[in-house]
Amino acid sequence: PATRPAYNRVMLKISGEALMGSQGFGLHPPTVERIAQEVKSVHDLGVEICMVIGGGNIFRGLQGSAQGMERTTADYMGMLATVMNALAMQSALESLGVFTRVISAIPMDQVCEPYIRRRAVRHLEKKRVVIFAAGTGNPYFTTDTAATLRANEMGCEAIFKGTKVDGVYDKDPVEHDDAVRYERISYDEVLAQHLGVMDASAIALARENDVPIIVFSLDEPGGFKGILAGEGTYTKVQ
Ligand code: UDP
Repeated sequence: PATRPAYNRVMLKISGEALMGSQGFGLHPPTVERIAQEVKSVHDLGVEICMVIGGGNIFRGLQGSAQGMERTTADYMGMLATVMNALAMQSALESLGVFTRVISAIPMDQVCEPYIRRRAVRHLEKKRVVIFAAGTGNPYFTTDTAATLRANEMGCEAIFKGTKVDGVYDKDPVEHDDAVRYERISYDEVLAQHLGVMDASAIALARENDVPIIVFSLDEPGGFKGILAGEGTYTKVQ
């Protein structure tokens, strides 16, 4: 048998934009399915998986407020967008035979379960992938913070932040050929250098509970599973 996975329970945070493929907006079903496959391959190792998906492919509160909408209303719209993404991911995972639950920070009983911490833990123990929707349920927060909050509450051993690049660099690797990737970096350095790993409140919350953040590329097929098997390139924020 293969070696034991590096972690038994993890949080996977992806942005809403990761689901839109090359479309520039909304949901691209083949892309959703590809990510679901990545999740399934890790689930197959016996790893307990929490997920938080952003909403930026549909609506961002800041965009709405920049267009004159009241900020809190716009943020609620952003939170609702994350519910749509969670349902899309649920559907894709279940069509691959992975049992899931969507749990919303804002109760909407006909659509998904409300957030009850002990119940969510029980789902994980039963090897259901738990997708946390509607962020923290509060305006002025982000889904990065929601992911960290739920990771702390669920006792996740690591937060996997799937991005377009394979880690944290000293400058934008897309624009600079000489950008250097960090193997490891501290929470404090990320905050001091304003490295765009996650927003500052999310980093501080992860530091609070000593949960490492693994920044890796979602575009790399097999990348998520590889890291759990001790392979691949990534940055560990700790
Ligand atoms: N949001 C919020 N509170 C939360 C999480 C999210 O108000 O706890 C809103 C906020 O307006 C945000 C939107 O939901 O712009 C979508 O989330 P986010 O921007 O984090 O998505 P991502 O960039 O990861 O796709």
